[in-house]
Amino acid sequence: MSFTKASVRDAEVEGRRVLVRVDFNVPLADGRVSDDSRIRAALPTIELLRERGAKLILVSHLGRPDGPDPDLSLAPVAERLGALIGTDVRMAPGLVGPEVEALVDELGPGDVLMLENSRFEPGEKTNDPELARGLAKLADLYVNDAFGAAHRSHATTAGVAHLLPAYAGLLLEREVRELDAIREHPAQPMRLVLGGAKVNDKIGVIGHFLDVADRIMIGGAMAFSFFKRQGVAVGNSLVDEDSVEAAGDILTSAAESPCDLVLPVDLVLGREFSAETERRELDGIEVPDGWMALDIGERTAAAYADAIATAGTVFWNGPMGAFELEPFAAGTRSVAEAMAAAPGTTVAGGGDSVAALDKFRLIDRVDWVSTGGGASLEFLEGCELPGIESLLDAGAVGGQ
Ligand code: ADP
Ligand code: MG
Repeated sequence: MSFTKASVRDAEVEGRRVLVRVDFNVPLADGRVSDDSRIRAALPTIELLRERGAKLILVSHLGRPDGPDPDLSLAPVAERLGALIGTDVRMAPGLVGPEVEALVDELGPGDVLMLENSRFEPGEKTNDPELARGLAKLADLYVNDAFGAAHRSHATTAGVAHLLPAYAGLLLEREVRELDAIREHPAQPMRLVLGGAKVNDKIGVIGHFLDVADRIMIGGAMAFSFFKRQGVAVGNSLVDEDSVEAAGDILTSAAESPCDLVLPVDLVLGREFSAETERRELDGIEVPDGWMALDIGERTAAAYADAIATAGTVFWNGPMGAFELEPFAAGTRSVAEAMAAAPGTTVAGGGDSVAALDKFRLIDRVDWVSTGGGASLEFLEGCELPGIESLLDAGAVGGQ
């Protein structure tokens, strides 16, 4: 399958208002952007539109706020973007409404306005038609460059796309091209390494990969949904209770599948989520009371590294532990190093997994680094992503 959606390159944008959904869900520290790679990833689309004289209105979510939250304002992102493109990026006070419309009216060709965090509006996640209409009122055209959010059917990713001529941004196109190649023709054997903490978002896709992959290796907090289901003691480890049942279903399916579902055999424990906490290695998986698992152990890390080295294709999403804390980074570092050295095709996705590769300075040695975690998994699984499906078909726009 090749990409059949209309490209921003073929859109007539001069002097027109273009609403661009970007993925600026970046990490913040002390009110500043601490890693701007997602902002830089959107620059080709932003620069193209500015060069062609569009009036840009950018929209993104940031974090998981339940409503307006000044700590999750996009203002620091607007500031960093402004520095990167060398122009003032104005910040809107909200997402829709008369005040925002007035700011849009002031835009000239090449100007950029950043809307406030889309998740400050409850209608974003429910894909509220009223909110989608408010967004559509701001612009003449819509461009989706937020591959990382394309698996969501939200007002800014899908709702508004149905109300305006909707085009794919350059990053979204590139993501689809790269991931499509792996989806259609993966070099065998295909292996997955899955971890992290957002288990509920990811666990659903594992079932599909039981038919495609020959080994799926689990680490990070995700492992504890499985251990909990198996009745293994988890101590104070982070467990996503909502995923324990799904983990059980996967264990059942895996037992009947030729694919190996591999769980950690040893762990690194701490008393609490802190770099200063007491640390101890556990040659086993039964976590004693008063301890939490914060990394996979050495034997597990070595086994995962070996499987990565001998794979035809490896997809990695989700850190193996609390890699942000140096005493618990070894498992994630070992997977990252194995990915970098692997002769097979290597793909990594997910904000924190990519941050880990960046931290270990290995990002350039992985074949494709996707800006999407959940989105890349769903895409590889074969799902239609709402943020892509809602775009115009290429055949619907005349080439110019
Ligand atoms: P990604 O962004 O790559 O998709 P997630 O957001 O799902 O990954 O998970 C990343 C987070 O998971 C990291 O902040 C890391 O500290 C945390 N994490 C991983 N393993 C554990 C664990 N055993 N206990 C607590 N947190 C963990
Ligand atoms: Mg994350």
